[in-house]
Amino acid sequence: MKIICIGRNYTEHAKELNNAVPTKPVFFLKVDTALLTKNKPFYLPSFSTDIHYELELVVKINRVGKHIEERFANRYYDEVGLGIDITARDLQNEAKKKGLPWEIAKSFDNSAPISNEFVKLADLPKNINFKLEIDEKQVQNGYSDDMIFSIDKIISYISQFYTLKIGDLIFTGTPSGVGQLKVGNKLKAYLGDKLMMNFEIR
Ligand code: MG
Repeated sequence: MKIICIGRNYTEHAKELNNAVPTKPVFFLKVDTALLTKNKPFYLPSFSTDIHYELELVVKINRVGKHIEERFANRYYDEVGLGIDITARDLQNEAKKKGLPWEIAKSFDNSAPISNEFVKLADLPKNINFKLEIDEKQVQNGYSDDMIFSIDKIISYISQFYTLKIGDLIFTGTPSGVGQLKVGNKLKAYLGDKLMMNFEIR
């Protein structure tokens, strides 16, 4: 199982981190030990002083494929969940400055909390809304229609490089409103009005 993450897929978020809006999808990987499931708490790691949340729609691949054409991409997934692309922003900025890979900032243990449940696309509106609340205050509110690269485009692009396998997860990028996590924060993530994740930072 692999976790593929898209960076800079929402214009407002690219702007808030002073990044150019990309012309091709930007992606990176998280390793399997990054997964954090069942609403278990996330422990702030000692190697960073600036850990950020990024709420993202997560697509689960249900069929093996490579070189998938965009018009057939919708045959390779039928449900979405939520995940948080936890990022050590200080380490990422350092890596960016030096032109180094981002994995140190993105792929550490437990850096990918995901919802237990995935919801059938058939049960969701076409323009999917997702939100993050921290300590009862809404900090992110995204719509899938605002993605720069649609899920189908992402699948088509990634599958030129990687064979997609059943159970692979694609984090599809975060809308604006990212920020720092602190000990004691209580996170609640919603798909539409449905509570999908509810966990604490320690
Ligand atoms: Mg992200």
